[in-house]
Amino acid sequence: MTAHTVVVGGGPGGMFLAYLLARAGRPVTLLERHHDFDRDFRGDSLHPWTLELFDRLGIGERLLDRPHVKAYSFRFHTPRGTVTTSEYRLLDTPRNYVALMPQVRFLDFLAAEASAFDGFTLRTGARVTGLLTGPDGTVTGVRYRDDAGEHELAADLVVAADGRFSQVRRLAGIEPVSLGAQTDLLWFSLPHRDGDPEDADVDLYLGDHHYIGLISGPGRWQIGYSLPKGGLSAARAAGVEPIRRFVAEQVPWLADRVGLLEDFKQTTLLSVDISRVERWHAPGLLLIGDAAHVISPTGGNGILMALQDALVAADRLVPALEHGTPGEHVLAGIQADREPAIRQVQAAQVRVEHQVARARERGRPITPPGFLRLLTRIPAVRARSARSNAYGPNPPVPGPDLCRALELTTTG
Ligand SMILES: Cc1cc2nc3c(=O)[nH]c(=O)nc-3n(C[C@H](O)[C@H](O)[C@H](O)COP(=O)(O)OP(=O)(O)OC[C@H]3O[C@@H](n4cnc5c(N)ncnc54)[C@H](O)[C@@H]3O)c2cc1C
Repeated sequence: MTAHTVVVGGGPGGMFLAYLLARAGRPVTLLERHHDFDRDFRGDSLHPWTLELFDRLGIGERLLDRPHVKAYSFRFHTPRGTVTTSEYRLLDTPRNYVALMPQVRFLDFLAAEASAFDGFTLRTGARVTGLLTGPDGTVTGVRYRDDAGEHELAADLVVAADGRFSQVRRLAGIEPVSLGAQTDLLWFSLPHRDGDPEDADVDLYLGDHHYIGLISGPGRWQIGYSLPKGGLSAARAAGVEPIRRFVAEQVPWLADRVGLLEDFKQTTLLSVDISRVERWHAPGLLLIGDAAHVISPTGGNGILMALQDALVAADRLVPALEHGTPGEHVLAGIQADREPAIRQVQAAQVRVEHQVARARERGRPITPPGFLRLLTRIPAVRARSARSNAYGPNPPVPGPDLCRALELTTTG
């Protein structure tokens, strides 16, 4: 009998996995603790890998009908000039850009697409509070709470896609290991105005002691202002003026509106973390996305990694779920397929975190290494860097079983 999967968490990873399972005819219930998918500053970047895959799934055009901004490059701005490290335009694909779309639009889109399949059930306002287990400890379902009270829901497989503070992970007694992030980011937004540069895509402005990430989106600029880890109280004590000053100095064309940042209430703190669990699975339970590994916003590829986890999980789960609860070897296979890419991304991020911390300790401006400035003058280098960011390491493709179940051609 075809097995029933419960996915906990309607972020990019959980929602995409639920979509793929439902489309492949595998019954799936998605539990999301919030009543909707609205959330601010959660990453809006849809990379070329995602856009190409969605084209292949036949839903790319519909996705891109929703308002978004196209980012064609990734740049550093330093007192010594601007360095473009990744130039997506140089990629040999019609989707040669990162689509910046508020996450709520992306998640609403996936939920609507998944709802077209009979096997898909979405319960919002449903917070998972416990795990059901069999006599041998196998996870057999979840306990959740919604406005109507407490419920139990049986499952042949539970997938924890409930993010960096995963409750399911905690309930299963699985501990993440931190690899040591040194920075926190304070996010806020400022409106677009006529005359803003059209090519401000994904920009990093490096200054003394701080940097800011500037990302465009429909109608507004999202700004991430770096703080040393744990530095929020000191920043609050100093007030918003130093932040306004830094933004105006680094990005002079925003000076006319930095005054709109009046209070810390307008900001959201992202405590940057780089961590992962050792085992992404237990009997009857699989962890994916941020629940399994948190990456820093450097490279903006948290969503990409979560979506790639979901594809790999669907690839192995779709055939296995036809025969009941997938064995642990199936779940271990998902980790084995994905973990090397995650390790590679995290190792690069840890290096960047250390560079930033060293510069801060020495009171030096944070700058990209000199050789990068020279190297990135070569278009092939900018194209290579764009490719690596656009697709991530070892980008997965749907395998033959999943292609059959989704009615896709195996090449594409
Ligand atoms: C402030 C901030 C800025 C970021 N910027 C970027 C960026 O620019 N680009 C990028 O690619 N990534 C960015 N990220 C990272 C990105 O958001 C995550 O990597 C990505 O969303 C991970 O997806 P996920 O599906 O694994 O988990 P999440 O997106 O975290 O989704 C988890 C879901 O689980 C739900 N949930 C949690 N607990 C329960 C429970 N007990 N029961 C039911 N549901 C539950 C949550 O409400 C949430 O909807 C950012 C993250 C943050 C916090």
